[in-house]
Amino acid sequence: MALIETNAGLWFQEDLYPEIACGFSVSAVLHCERSTFQDILILDTPALGKVLALDGIVQCAQKDEAIYHEMLAHSGVLLRQTVVPTEGGLDVLVVGGGDGGIARECLKHAGVDRVTVVDIDPRVRETVLTYFPELPAGAYADARLTAVDADAVGFVRQHRNRFDLIVADTPDPVGVATPLFGRDFVTDCHAALQDGGVFVRHAGSLLLQTDEFARTRDDVAVVFGPACTRTGLLATCTYLGGWFGWLAAIKGVAYPEGNDALRTMRTLFARVALKVHWFSPELQVASQVLPAWLAGTEANISRRDDNSWASPDRESS
Ligand code: SAM
Repeated sequence: MALIETNAGLWFQEDLYPEIACGFSVSAVLHCERSTFQDILILDTPALGKVLALDGIVQCAQKDEAIYHEMLAHSGVLLRQTVVPTEGGLDVLVVGGGDGGIARECLKHAGVDRVTVVDIDPRVRETVLTYFPELPAGAYADARLTAVDADAVGFVRQHRNRFDLIVADTPDPVGVATPLFGRDFVTDCHAALQDGGVFVRHAGSLLLQTDEFARTRDDVAVVFGPACTRTGLLATCTYLGGWFGWLAAIKGVAYPEGNDALRTMRTLFARVALKVHWFSPELQVASQVLPAWLAGTEANISRRDDNSWASPDRESS
């Protein structure tokens, strides 16, 4: 169990890695339950504010959640509007994301018409709305949002060429989230996107989940094509391990780069005048400047197995 009584009071210690752990003191346990799918814990803490943990693993903390939610949501929307200039009508799918953080940020864009949040566990939404409402911050009351309580694997497979943007806001590849990783799921997301549609997801800790990071990145690059896929890095104080990878890929369109792309995103960003704490188009582009060893492996992907890019159809199972 992640909660430990110490001489200094109640302490939370994350159950993610056997040799290293994120830990912090707890001022109140706001909610604790075992749902049909997972342990749900909502805490109040002196250092991080409110914290949502699932199965003993930190999902979001009030102190730093905007770093992650803003980068993935706004990068996705601006990339879509950059490759397919449209004033409005964006149809966004959030895979997982029942806490509402990604939806909250997407709904800040007037150009987003629909946000569908598909989370397997309705108790995440319900408990967050009761004990951590600052996180969705009204997103669930927005008429543009539809919440679907279902396994995202099946939901995504029911859709072809529909979405402008898919943000996979998943936990780590454990338990019910395992099928949200792997090439089959990425292939289904590719199929569910419109041409020029954008897929965004996190790829885990660069230093503590290096294999998971590489596999997640390779799956996206192989399905979408290396020329259409880019890796970015962000850092929070609760996703342990320093640099945390995130991926953005575009269906059938080379990834827009250089001054022109940045100028376009800047114009779009200025026009919508978003209330954000961290995000800017410059920070998005800067986050994709990779350390030497990683930049090297990005190159390797491109030399790997040419023909697997040709057909994003599911590898002969
Ligand atoms: N940002 C967080 C992170 O990076 O760790 C993830 C946050 S979000 C709370 C993750 C959500 O994915 C959870 O609410 C969980 O219920 C949901 N989830 C897990 N497996 C799922 C599945 N197979 N289909 C749909 N949602 C799933």
